[in-house]
Amino acid sequence: MKTVHIAKSNQDIIVPKIFCLGKNYAKHAAEMKSDVPQRPVVFMKPSSAIVHNGARVKIPAMTKDLHHETEIFFVIGKEGKDIRKEEARSYVDSMGIALDLTLRDVQSELKNAGNPWLISKGFDGSAPISNAVPVEGVDFNKLELSLSVNGQVRQRGGYTDTIFKIEDVIVFISQLFTLERGDLIFTGTPEGVAKLNPGDKLHAELTGYASLDIEIG
Ligand code: MG
Repeated sequence: MKTVHIAKSNQDIIVPKIFCLGKNYAKHAAEMKSDVPQRPVVFMKPSSAIVHNGARVKIPAMTKDLHHETEIFFVIGKEGKDIRKEEARSYVDSMGIALDLTLRDVQSELKNAGNPWLISKGFDGSAPISNAVPVEGVDFNKLELSLSVNGQVRQRGGYTDTIFKIEDVIVFISQLFTLERGDLIFTGTPEGVAKLNPGDKLHAELTGYASLDIEIG
């Protein structure tokens, strides 16, 4: 079973599930030629998709267009169902920076046919994650993220630009799914998604808190 490393307690905890948000930054929705959603767009990756800092991710033979999406992720610290907004923050234990690697050509084909896009976003290596750091005392509205590819900045954004905040997302998801300790929530990507090539070196940061380096193999 894949794990997330919790820096504070120096523990690796099992990740039962990974929830991801689609189109949670208005400018990314625009670059995808999508409307801003009226409620959170939620999909999942299997936890087998996780790789950690230093990983080399192989481009699947099925694609000609592997894209990076850089995202803040939160780690759920305790089990909950039908969580109220006032208590939602208490379910967030820690946070880090992740990549939601996407086979864009495969995803587009599946979306156009009205089919689930799982294989385009859930394949092995599609969820690189940093270590997670505690959220205690952190003002989420000050969180910033960035991604460089081969030293050139490709994506930059701030949590304040997200359409649905983590508390609202927890309320929404927990109406239908039991949240479990170790579940991850990827909060969507800012604009600037683009193609990756073999040999590319990616450096993602949750500024001041966490970083992640991977290479495309
Ligand atoms: Mg994404």
